[in-house]
Amino acid sequence: MKWVYTFGDGRAEGSAAMKELLGGKGANLAEMANLGLPVPPGFTITTEVCTWFYAHERTYPVELSLEVDEALRSVGRKTGRVFGDAERPLLVSVRSGARASMPGMMDTVLNLGLNDSTVNALAREAGDDRFAWDSYRRFIQMYGDVVLGVDHHAFEEILDDHKDREGYVLDTDLTAADWRVVVEGYKALVAEETGEAFPQDPTAQLWGAIGAVFGSWMNARAITYRRLHDIPASWGTAVTVQAMVFGNMGETSATGVAFTRNPSTGEKLLYGEFLVNAQGEDVVAGIRTPQDITEAARIAARSDRPSLERVMPDAFHEFVAICGTLEKHYRDMQDLEFTIERGKLWMLQARSGKRTAEAALRIAVEMADEGLITRDEAVGRIDPSSLDQLLHPTIDPGAHRDIIGSGLPASPGAASGEIVFTSDEAEAVKQRGARCILVRVETSPEDIHGMHAAEGILTTRGGMTSHAAVVARGMGKPCVSGAGSLKVDAGRGVLTALGRTFRAGDIITIDGGTGQVIAGEVPMRQPELSGNFAKLMGWADEIRRMRVRTNAETPADARAARAFGAEGIGLCRTEHMFFDAGRITAVREMILADTSEGRRKALAKILPMQRQDFVELFEIMHGLPVTIRLLDPPLHEFLPKTEGELDEIAAAVGVTPEKLKDRVNALAEFNPMLGHRGCRLAISYPEIAEMQARAIFEAAIAAAKTTGAPVIPEIMVPLVATKAELDYVKDIVDRIAAAVTKESGLDIAYQVGTMIELPRAALRAAEIAEAAEFFSFGTNDLTQTTFGISRDDAASFLGTYVNKGLLAHDPFVSLDTEGVGELVQIAADRGRRTRADIKLGICGEHGGDPASIGFCETVGLDYVSCSPFRVPIARLAAAQSALKSRKA
Ligand code: PEP
Ligand code: MG
Repeated sequence: MKWVYTFGDGRAEGSAAMKELLGGKGANLAEMANLGLPVPPGFTITTEVCTWFYAHERTYPVELSLEVDEALRSVGRKTGRVFGDAERPLLVSVRSGARASMPGMMDTVLNLGLNDSTVNALAREAGDDRFAWDSYRRFIQMYGDVVLGVDHHAFEEILDDHKDREGYVLDTDLTAADWRVVVEGYKALVAEETGEAFPQDPTAQLWGAIGAVFGSWMNARAITYRRLHDIPASWGTAVTVQAMVFGNMGETSATGVAFTRNPSTGEKLLYGEFLVNAQGEDVVAGIRTPQDITEAARIAARSDRPSLERVMPDAFHEFVAICGTLEKHYRDMQDLEFTIERGKLWMLQARSGKRTAEAALRIAVEMADEGLITRDEAVGRIDPSSLDQLLHPTIDPGAHRDIIGSGLPASPGAASGEIVFTSDEAEAVKQRGARCILVRVETSPEDIHGMHAAEGILTTRGGMTSHAAVVARGMGKPCVSGAGSLKVDAGRGVLTALGRTFRAGDIITIDGGTGQVIAGEVPMRQPELSGNFAKLMGWADEIRRMRVRTNAETPADARAARAFGAEGIGLCRTEHMFFDAGRITAVREMILADTSEGRRKALAKILPMQRQDFVELFEIMHGLPVTIRLLDPPLHEFLPKTEGELDEIAAAVGVTPEKLKDRVNALAEFNPMLGHRGCRLAISYPEIAEMQARAIFEAAIAAAKTTGAPVIPEIMVPLVATKAELDYVKDIVDRIAAAVTKESGLDIAYQVGTMIELPRAALRAAEIAEAAEFFSFGTNDLTQTTFGISRDDAASFLGTYVNKGLLAHDPFVSLDTEGVGELVQIAADRGRRTRADIKLGICGEHGGDPASIGFCETVGLDYVSCSPFRVPIARLAAAQSALKSRKA
């Protein structure tokens, strides 16, 4: 077993391929070293040590300490230094690095190796006492906080007290002598809080830091982040120990972060920020406002702070060249951290950059056009769920904007909501069904839950790479950061802007595209689906095998779905066509009638509406397939609930409200989801199916005339358990088809098929396929009946199952491919055995879930059907599934 991997001086024991073992950071540092880029030498302790650590009561494998000693000596040889040496001390940083990047989640310690003796050596070498003592106090503060658990506020208080006493305003006012005093105060604080002196032995310091990094894998922030991003706890983190380079050794030193393309828009322009005379954490923390890296960006931002291109042209040009090398090497946009120590450039990190969905699209399309990646790769790179972000509204360009301030356009999209000042308030507002904007000075990893609950995030401090900006982009939420003209007083619950005062609960709007902050609510506009979006979707369409249809019953939904690229309707829930206030009375009348005659009277009112609905749908779909499902009303959704509703229907039916109440009571069910619904209704009351079949056929004839395209309706029977049920309903449909043919003198083409949404239907699919020309998997009901968990009641306890790890995910959201999936597979196999060309689709909610779509591809379904807004997601997910199955 090898536990430690070294890198530096143009070579490394590891490589980018070893992410699982070395973590993303360690693997990429090794790769950069192998590419001959300037990387401070160091070593990575593997994720296997983390696993070992937790499997053995937080202890280490015995060989580890020898391997770490040897690695430290190797770093010493490369730097000409010795750990703990009083003349040329080696100082190191200690950082965590998981397989997947977890920004801001794990702890870092810098300047490790400093103590009362080495601080003097650092001062001599740098020729700068002040710098050395500032570094030492930073180290004690970070180490005290991260490793020893001393609250960082306590350190800040000591510093603030000292500044007050001396009349200083800025940290830069402090002299070397001041920092010495602060260091003494810090050491006294540590001794008081921990009962032990601050560790002077660098080796003890190092093991303390390593333990803290491994320990932080199980801190609450990390656990939350993993849960939100589906990262297994078993992966563990690596620890990277690396020789320190200093960006705060005076005016020829700097530190910065950069993206090789704009992470917000995807534009192919180097994009980044830096600070002169600063350490890495200063940039991310957003305490000082950073400077632009390129002149072009500085000019665009109208900043009067000079760019890196101007102040350190040599380092800038070397950096630009490295950006090109890394982008070509990794064939992706890179997120880079660098430090310049006295004019010499050092690369500290390279990884694939997080980006908005808009940027991801643009980068993928442009890289494919540049020939850097293939079109298949471009399609494979976009997370289908992220397309949701592009479907976000933006502010209507014609709208009046009552602008009260502006900040950086940190994450696109616009959002309105009530002002909240804490993450807990954000959750509370969301709970009561309202929308909110989280307004903070800056956010920290403790705010993740509030950021999730909010529609958007507004901060008054911090840059484009601040915590708020990075996390909001990842979540796809609009964010405006660094809106410095706004003042937040969270304690008093007040936001002041332009002399106006806003309180919690007041509505504001943020525009993450421009950075504007606007009072009140503003009209929004739906997004354009052209440009890069259309291009990539076009590529996806060439790749995918499965068709994508939509679940729609209203003309508006059907039109939206076609605009999103739907290739037909996979499920028209006819009962939903009657939720409308003007119509539901007729449906209730029909359901509540206690004679066939009464029902026919109500149905006669419904027929023309229904026919007109179908004509419209056929016309909108213009020759594309349309699957219409016969009525499937879970009765509890349709029975009248209020006295007013009862009276209205009693009048319409011509009975007393009392008599009607009796009828409602007689129809009430204990388990409506398993009750008198689906085809059971058509079997009890055949006249319902007769009316619907007639409406469908008459509409098909009418629409074929207006569109000039043939209309072949697919009539779908719901909730079938036995072939006999399907036969019974199919007979009705066939009979009406014959009647309409006779009346019209026109031949009518149509198909009859069934939902497969009960386990019995899945198992008996072979005989059901004798009657059914198509199957559509109703995985909502199939999940309900396979698990025996009520769709309507699951919400109250399924979350607990997921939290306790008893279920990997909610099976109503993402298909349970093992259980429910096996039934789907069985039904598909048995159906095809009877009828080789049987058409197979899915129309449960899972038809719009990327993981479930992947499963549908493996079963070989012909199409998936989902709600209109998920159609683009399904098109892309279907393409990715096809790519995957081609590879397999
Ligand atoms: C299903 O059960 O999956 C389905 C699509 O039908 P509904 O949701 O209307 O019951
Ligand atoms: Mg169903």
